[in-house]
Amino acid sequence: TKVARKDARFQIWEVKCLKEGQRIFVKSLDTKGAINVCKERHSAMDVIVEGTRTMQVEKLLRERDISFDVVTNDITSLVGPPRRVRSPVLSPRMRSPIKKSLDWKDFYPLNVIYDFLDALERQYPSICTVTVIGNTVEGRDVKMLKISNSNARNTAVWLDGTIHAREWISTSVVTYIADHIARSFNTLPDYITNKDWFFVPVVNPDGYYHTHTVDRMWRKNRARFGNTITGVDLNRNFGLNWGRNGNTECASGDPNHLNYRGTEAFSEPETAAIKDIILYSGVPFKIFLTFHAYSELISFPWCYTSDPCPDYVNLLEGGTAMAKAIYETSGRMYKVGNFKDIMYYASGTSIDWSYGTARIPFTYLIELRSKKDRFLLPKEEIQDCCKEVLNGVKALAEFVDKKKCRNCNVHFKKNPQ
Ligand SMILES: [Zn+2]
Repeated sequence: TKVARKDARFQIWEVKCLKEGQRIFVKSLDTKGAINVCKERHSAMDVIVEGTRTMQVEKLLRERDISFDVVTNDITSLVGPPRRVRSPVLSPRMRSPIKKSLDWKDFYPLNVIYDFLDALERQYPSICTVTVIGNTVEGRDVKMLKISNSNARNTAVWLDGTIHAREWISTSVVTYIADHIARSFNTLPDYITNKDWFFVPVVNPDGYYHTHTVDRMWRKNRARFGNTITGVDLNRNFGLNWGRNGNTECASGDPNHLNYRGTEAFSEPETAAIKDIILYSGVPFKIFLTFHAYSELISFPWCYTSDPCPDYVNLLEGGTAMAKAIYETSGRMYKVGNFKDIMYYASGTSIDWSYGTARIPFTYLIELRSKKDRFLLPKEEIQDCCKEVLNGVKALAEFVDKKKCRNCNVHFKKNPQ
């Protein structure tokens, strides 16, 4: 039996409740907000306990002769391969154990991210709008923030994070850029304010929630296949060349595979939501940025083939402008190249679709920090990473305004998949 660590942010305990009275008592602790019951079985319950409350809860349980085991100690800092932890059955009562505001000094759960978006809208109502663009399989909102001065001549920029649940730094970066643009809008140059900015900091809210509560290393969404939650790799679920080379690691047809592509293109509500906004919002998107971790690179289409895409040179130049700005900010070197060359084959990715189908000329998948710590970037590096990427994005926004490119002035409104 592990001991409850006081310094852990939160933990999962298996509480043995043999008597009905014990069970009622544990549930009353949930009602009071001291713990979160996430799974009930015949003689035990799995509960989430906030790190700062472990002593208090331990005492309360001991007083009533209720024994418990610490199943997962500090679920926010699991290192190594994913642990087999039982999935909690989500109840509507389930609350997030932490309540703080976003400061980019730490990683925060979904409710804090969404509160941040809503607060920006309240504070800057003339330029900020928050909309729910979709609902996940577990019923969570996919929220989007748009920042715009409502000029009809604007082009648009897309930025999304955490399509892969465990890549938390991507959410930090997207919210940081949104915060910067909203707060300093009146002092920013034309190449920023002449664009409508669309931010989806958490594309995969179910997966994100899961990484904060159960399995830090979860990647996919929380879709069911039969009776089991296998999840779909959302970055294999987009419509251009979906399932191509499906027997390889490219995009698997096996639900248990980490790169499971889903039953059909856009089968998942998260990817369908992105498709609908991009194709039908009525704004010509010129830039599409999707943030991942942890390879420190800037990649562009194609992912499904090693052939260069028609805008290879423009994309390389734009990527290099970003990488240069990043280097000048922090000395960090982000590699630039087409996805297949610097990563691996993948099909059904968002960038192949956004470039090839939605015809967004400057489309990039950016892998953030860190090669050293992989998915577990130390929180002390969050702000440095956000600052370097903010400057990279600004440099790209300036670059595209100077650049003549294929499709730049074409308005693609209706486009099948
Ligand atoms: Zn990723």
